[in-house]
Amino acid sequence: MVLHLWMAVTEADYMKYKDPNQPVNVRVRDLLSRMTLEEKIGQMTQIDRKISSKEIMKKYFIGSVLSGGGSYPSPTASAETWINMINEFQEGALSTRLGIPMIYGIDAIHGNNNVYNATIFPHNIGLGVTRDPELVKRIGAATALETRATGIPYTFAPCIAVCRDPRWGRCYESYSEDHKIVQAMTEIIPGLQGDVPANFPKGIPYIAGRNKVAGCAKHFVGDGGTTNGINENNTVIDWNGLQSIHMPAYLDSIKKGVATVMVSYSSWNGEKMHANKKLITGYLKKQLKFKGFVISDSQGIDRITSPPHANYTYSVEAGILAGIDMIMVPEKFTEFIDDLTSLVKKNVIPMTRIDDAVRRILRVKFVLGLFENPMADYSLVHELGSQEHRELASEAVRKSLVLLKNGKNIDEPLLPLPKRASKILVAGSHAHNIGNQCGGWTIEWRGLAGNITVGTTILTAVKNTVDPLTEVVYRENPETELLKSNKFSYAIVVVGEPPYSESFGDNMNLTIPESGIRTINNVCEAIKCVVVIISGRPVVIEPYLAKIEALVAAWLPGTEGQGVADVLFGGYGFTGKLARTWFKTVDQLPMNVGDPHYDPLFPFGYGLTTSPTELRASQ
Ligand code: BGC
Repeated sequence: MVLHLWMAVTEADYMKYKDPNQPVNVRVRDLLSRMTLEEKIGQMTQIDRKISSKEIMKKYFIGSVLSGGGSYPSPTASAETWINMINEFQEGALSTRLGIPMIYGIDAIHGNNNVYNATIFPHNIGLGVTRDPELVKRIGAATALETRATGIPYTFAPCIAVCRDPRWGRCYESYSEDHKIVQAMTEIIPGLQGDVPANFPKGIPYIAGRNKVAGCAKHFVGDGGTTNGINENNTVIDWNGLQSIHMPAYLDSIKKGVATVMVSYSSWNGEKMHANKKLITGYLKKQLKFKGFVISDSQGIDRITSPPHANYTYSVEAGILAGIDMIMVPEKFTEFIDDLTSLVKKNVIPMTRIDDAVRRILRVKFVLGLFENPMADYSLVHELGSQEHRELASEAVRKSLVLLKNGKNIDEPLLPLPKRASKILVAGSHAHNIGNQCGGWTIEWRGLAGNITVGTTILTAVKNTVDPLTEVVYRENPETELLKSNKFSYAIVVVGEPPYSESFGDNMNLTIPESGIRTINNVCEAIKCVVVIISGRPVVIEPYLAKIEALVAAWLPGTEGQGVADVLFGGYGFTGKLARTWFKTVDQLPMNVGDPHYDPLFPFGYGLTTSPTELRASQ
């Protein structure tokens, strides 16, 4: 009798979903069968950390929290501060009836870029130039470590947009105008998540452990093909075009076990992607067999209508029925919860749809190991901004540079620059400015000029690299007297675009600021100069080209300016080839490789080379 009672109690207490020895599917099924509608809808809700708290997490059974672009709680917050915040939310989630952990997500899109002292890698546009998937995989692994260092197991990366028009403010988040390069660069996924083992079933998310993070292929689909490059606009293209240009990288991402996919704000032939059931459910989930979860973009459901939030109940219905599983930052999250609850109660949205969503979310959480290890600890803090990662970033910078011009004629190249010279000038708005060097999505969503995080500016790198006897003079805007003094062996002019993100970067002129043009004109008229352009895309340069002795595209290199100096001074050769077409004038746009009437200033694939001038011990 006693024994019988004991057995009954253990059986009742035994919850399969808590047993790490059970297969993930069994755990998901068991947990799902125990959940109420309220708990399920909570899992589907992702809120911003600014409105989150332990109490909110518990009260609404919230499944996920994110940091949109931006640092917490101050631009210089430490990794420990981040961990403490995230753990507090996690405690709230764990104190619910079933103790389901929340998943915290962030845009670690070029390193763990919201966090002070993180290693900031070149933005994707520079990585596309390298055509080096193995390098990008190592960057993924380093980013995973630095993201975990702050207690975060999920990043909204990679952006696998195929940017077809550089006027788009997110062009720099795209590896290339050529889908084959974007496909190759999905190697970042095994870097972030780990290598999918042989014979692993296709479509199932795979994440290799506590040093890895869940990734997110975004933005599904056609985000890089909008008319005139206007952000979140309409992509007009037939099915074949969509499939052959914008879709292939999703197939690769799914093969590589990507955990989540984010839906694009944009429309396809007039239909909002957030309401596109054929593509999200029919194609992505059914045909491609994607088994991770589909997340909306931030307030993406609200934006199904125009103006946003105009008919919210309709938007919730359309978005959830289209197949979106987790809703990122509904404008009013309690309204989302209420609307979805009543839509399910009225049978407008079937319970099977809710179960599909929750099953996918739970699957990722189990695969991530969140049930076993929900709380972050400080054991990886030392990974943030480590010397090893900074060296990796320097390597990426070196390989991302494209040499577009070298000397007025081939017999008189300016580069590599001599390290020994009596006096050299370094000039321009981007020469000594970490924020400008990193671009958008760095510490702040839109980026910030100035001394915003730890790194090496190009000026500092030049000083580190030249012979100790070479005098380096720096002026952001050199005065005429100085230029006329005629004492400089050569000048390095570093100018470009100010930081921006998303729609703030849409630009129909693609000129760099007037001050940059002035610096080019003034310096290059007086002194033999190499111009280094820091930009998120090709910019108008043809009118000044004749004055410029040598021209280098450095894109948005990130914190490690040393990589630029390494190559300018011949420590390494230039190897990068354009992964985008460099136009002559904006009225040629859009213009992509393979187009009829292709008449670029520098074609796709262009890039001069130099040989290293010195032997190195390694690499
Ligand atoms: C962007 C996404 C990003 C999200 C969260 C949105 O504005 O479109 O790419 O992941 O914000 O920060």
